[in-house]
Parts: sequence; structure tokens; C-alpha cells
Amino acid sequence: SGAVEVTNVGHVYETASGTTEALTDISFRVETGRFISIVGPSGCGKSSLLMMIAGLVQPTRGTITAGGRPLVQPDPTRIGVVFQDASLYPWLTARSNVEFPLSLRHVDHKIRRERAEEALDLVGLAGFADKHPHELSGGMKQRVALARGLVQDPPILLMDEPFAALDEQTRLTMGDEVLRIWERTRKTIIFVTHGLSEAIHLSDEVLVLTSRPGKLVDRVSVDLPRP
Ligand code: ADP
Ligand code: ADP
Repeated sequence: SGAVEVTNVGHVYETASGTTEALTDISFRVETGRFISIVGPSGCGKSSLLMMIAGLVQPTRGTITAGGRPLVQPDPTRIGVVFQDASLYPWLTARSNVEFPLSLRHVDHKIRRERAEEALDLVGLAGFADKHPHELSGGMKQRVALARGLVQDPPILLMDEPFAALDEQTRLTMGDEVLRIWERTRKTIIFVTHGLSEAIHLSDEVLVLTSRPGKLVDRVSVDLPRP
């Protein structure tokens, strides 16, 4: 299932100049199929929290489970991740970028291709599979990154300020695109943004963090009509 449970999680970074307590005592649960946003000022630990849920960073305190099981390392079959920077390989086509996680698992060539086509179709990029990243606009690159995050059909999708680098109009279009995908797939989505209006527009619920150290201070349900 796609439930995410974060229990008493804290994170302390150790650097050459000392330690930074990024997050302290964070607890929340997200039920399967919910769309929640995490908002808060820069430096409050949003990215750190998302990376811990993704299994990319280990919490220094507390536990996190996805689908009832802890995640000790990233597993794109359980959790898809999309970052602000699309981080596509420039020398690969859109299709090959999307196929990449499947190639790592040695999935059969034909199945890989089919899944990549399906994912590109889902994000509205059918017909762009053979383009390289430099031939695509910012919005379209984020669509490719989204397709790559979805290609193994994970029940959970994490997005870290995915549209922050885009212009206003594209950001709105992409937000509606994510809503459309969520309505079609009913994945659990956890969306990090520093834009409160974006969070309210997109999600069922908004978690609010404050900084130094990052702390969960509020959890608000949104009850707005969907576009
Ligand atoms: P946000 O995404 O809300 O901007 P981050 O999770 O990026 O917050 O950062 C939270 C805090 O942890 C900040 O004080 C930041 O400077 C610190 N931090 C983040 N990553 C590292 C790191 N790799 N090493 C040391 N400190 C870090
Ligand atoms: P940006 O605004 O960052 O350049 P967009 O994703 O909004 O990126 O796309 C830019 C242009 O590409 C727009 O004119 C848009 O209509 C077109 N475009 C985007 N996605 C598609 C698509 N799936 N099919 C056809 N045209 C598209």
C-alpha cells in the first residue's frame, strides 16, 4: 500500500565546522492515495525530510515506513522521486531517460520500451520520446522527470519543488498536470514547495514546518473544489 508513516524523526548533519540540527521530532502519517504538501521557509528541512522518506538519507532519530515497511535504501518500485532540477542525462533521449531505472534492473528491452511509452503518454509527451533534453522546454523536461518517477508504477510519489525553476504560467500548467495524474492513478503524493498557494491549490492537506531546527507546527486540511 501507499501509506507513509514518519515517527519521531530527527536529522542532524555533521560537517567539518560542526553539527546542524535540520529536523527535530517530526511525526505524521499519510494515508494511501492522499496528496499532501509540505511547506515552510528555506532551510526548514523540507528536502531533508523528503530525502529521508525516499531512503536517500537515513534519519538520525526515529523511523519511517512506506507501505508499512521501513526503507533502508531507495527503491523506485515503491517510491518515485522528482527533484527541482529534472536531472536528465543530456546524451539520452526522453525515452531512454525514462527507461533508465528499468535498465538498471535489467528489465527486458521490449517491456522497458512499452513502459516508457506509457509513462510518457501519461505526462502528455507522446510523440516526444526521441527528443534529447536540450530540445525540450523546462516544463517538458520536468514532464520527462515525472515520467521517469512513474515508470515503475510506485504507489508513492515524492516531489521536491519540482516546478520552482519554471515560469509562472508553466508552473500552473504543470500543477494541473500533476492533479490530473493523481486523479487518474490515485498515488500517494508528497509535494514539497515553499509556495503556500501552490500547496493549497494542489493538495488535500498541508503540513507546515518552521526552521532552526525544522519542526512540524501545523497540519491543515484543504477543502477547495478541484479545477
Ligand atoms: P529546505 O529544503 O527546507 O530548504 P534543507 O533540508 O535543504 O531545507 O536543509 C535543512 C537544514 O539542513 C539547513 O540548515 C541546511 O543548511 C542543512 N543541510 C542540508 N543539507 C545539508 C548537508 N548535506 N550538510 C550539512 N547541512 C545540510
Ligand atoms: P515551457 O513553458 O517551460 O517552455 P511547456 O511544457 O509549457 O514548457 O511547453 C512549452 C511549449 O511546448 C508550449 O507551447 C506547449 O504548448 C508545448 N507543449 C508542451 N507539452 C506539449 C505536448 N505534450 N504536446 C504538444 N506541445 C506541447
